[in-house]
Amino acid sequence: VGRRSKKRHGNFCWCCGRVRPNEAFSGKNHSRHICRECARLGGDELEYRQAQRNLERAVTWEGLIRRRQRHVIEAYRSHDNARVRELVEQILADDRALRTERAEIARLYDQDLEPGGIDEVPHSEVDCYDHETQETSDDLPF
Ligand SMILES: [Zn+2]
Repeated sequence: VGRRSKKRHGNFCWCCGRVRPNEAFSGKNHSRHICRECARLGGDELEYRQAQRNLERAVTWEGLIRRRQRHVIEAYRSHDNARVRELVEQILADDRALRTERAEIARLYDQDLEPGGIDEVPHSEVDCYDHETQETSDDLPF
């Protein structure tokens, strides 16, 4: 009874990421931290989900592989589960694409800052804005 009250907040299921009441965990799955619902998914699916969670932790919200976590990704490349390997390749591809895209943006941005690029900004717009700002401040009573 004492043990039960201590666990009144329920248990965390790593698989679905939910905190669920004790009733949602069977005896065997309790120690595995998997709720009944997720336990029904079967070994392969659970294996995949666990790998997915670990892989997602090694990647930023943008999809960039964290430098220090790259070994985690690399280790999963030789996983027994083909779906896990597929996921790893997808993550690596996304990471590559994102880095290429960023390099491209940086390159274009550098070009814009080169002499000549700035002349493309319409001067009339800038002058007009300055004039309006000046007028507004003149109208101020003090
Ligand atoms: Zn669950």
